[in-house]
Amino acid sequence: MIINNMFFYNTLFRKKEKFEPFNPSKVGLYSCGPTVYDYAHIGHARTYVFVDVLKRVLEYSGYKVDHVMNITDVGHLTSEADTGDDKVEKKAKTEGKTAWDIAKYYTKDFFDMTGKLNILKPQVICKATDYIPQMIKIIKQLEEKGLTYVISDGVYFDTSKLKNYGKLARLKIEDLKEGARVGKNKEKRNPTDFALWKFTQSGTKRQMEWQSPWGVGFPGWHIECSAMSMEHLGETIDIHTGGIDHIPIHHTNEIAQSEGATGKLFVKYWLHAGHLLVEGKKMSKSLGNYYRLKDVVDKGYDPLSLRYLFLTAHYRTEMNFTWKALEGAQKAFSKLKVQLATGNLQLTNKKEKRVDSKLDSQVEEYSKRFRNYLNDDLDMPRAIALVWEVVKSDIPDSDKYKLIIDWDRVFGLGLAGQEIKNKELVISREVKGLVKEREKLREEKKWEEADKIRKEIEEKGYLVEDKQEKSIIKKKPRYDL
Ligand code: AMP
Ligand code: ZN
Repeated sequence: MIINNMFFYNTLFRKKEKFEPFNPSKVGLYSCGPTVYDYAHIGHARTYVFVDVLKRVLEYSGYKVDHVMNITDVGHLTSEADTGDDKVEKKAKTEGKTAWDIAKYYTKDFFDMTGKLNILKPQVICKATDYIPQMIKIIKQLEEKGLTYVISDGVYFDTSKLKNYGKLARLKIEDLKEGARVGKNKEKRNPTDFALWKFTQSGTKRQMEWQSPWGVGFPGWHIECSAMSMEHLGETIDIHTGGIDHIPIHHTNEIAQSEGATGKLFVKYWLHAGHLLVEGKKMSKSLGNYYRLKDVVDKGYDPLSLRYLFLTAHYRTEMNFTWKALEGAQKAFSKLKVQLATGNLQLTNKKEKRVDSKLDSQVEEYSKRFRNYLNDDLDMPRAIALVWEVVKSDIPDSDKYKLIIDWDRVFGLGLAGQEIKNKELVISREVKGLVKEREKLREEKKWEEADKIRKEIEEKGYLVEDKQEKSIIKKKPRYDL
């Protein structure tokens, strides 16, 4: 039994709520995945870093997490109003490839990006096109309950039949009805009704299409998440994630379908990430104001500096991306790595002594504060600030390492690797000899000769810092500080 005091901001109630999963030790987590018709950008990356941190925090707190993420390879149309082209099929036409190849290519691109950002892969990654029978089954259930109707271009969900439709987005349905007369699809009964199944238009042939009880066609975008979430995590799940743009339509409609079909609560906690902006506007393909991770790397930045940058803002706030901010993050991250890789390479025989229980309680206090920040709706900015407080504190280096390496299970910055490198980093006898020689020269006040040796040491990849009693030798940082 896990004792937790975790609070998450639940979009459903617009407030922080104590996290109490259905199963006291296991969490069902579903994340809306990417639509694979184009390259992933760093706006997407922000949302998936948030999901990754959430999952890591749950695991750090002792939960087993069943994480499921879908890949939208069919059904996401260019217009949220269920009109326009299927994004994947459209791209296939312009690139002269098959829709399947397009989906495969951009799925790989997405996971290349997430891999470089240390984002852990969900246990289940499921493609919409593999779940057509499950989607048809749910649409049939909805039909039996009288929640659907058929018009010339597809099968639609009748949102007026569902009490509480729009509860997640707090939609004012009456206001929306006012605008209904200018709605695009005149056959729709209500402006908020949405497609469950779209027919292949007569005289055309899609690459991705399937038989269904209503005619040949393809699923609407939202039904895939209801089907895959139910298939892998059951009818009611603990946590569902996505970017805030999903609240008014995609997640609202997932709730309608799932709760309409099962009569049960679909999701207990809805968590949404704020957008990554560029000059105040959402980073997006349509505005063309996006950067890929490749752009970040091409400019000489470590992908994990971007991850560090994301951690410095709370996941629910909007974050304006600038290269200057990334530069700052890279400097801070590099400094941290240098601290970890070199902090205990002091050329001194003095052993750090475990002084007293006061020290232990100081370390314990840091651990407690770290957990409190995680528990407070994943407050990573404060957790990162705590790292620096620890670095600057006067607790022994070994305690600093232990704390920070342990916390990195949540940050995912690969700092443990730094520690391993640190252990492996044996200063050669030659360098040690040079340091000793230099110290002797300094004692004899032979500054010029000492300086020559400093240069020699630096050429071998180390830095020397002169303190009062001793010289400290450090491995040179990978990045300029
Ligand atoms: P899509 O591939 O457009 O379905 O988006 C995949 C996920 O990335 C969704 O959860 C979106 O909310 C999220 N997303 C898209 N653009 C951004 C952005 N600029 N900032 C943060 N998240 C985003
Ligand atoms: Zn979804």
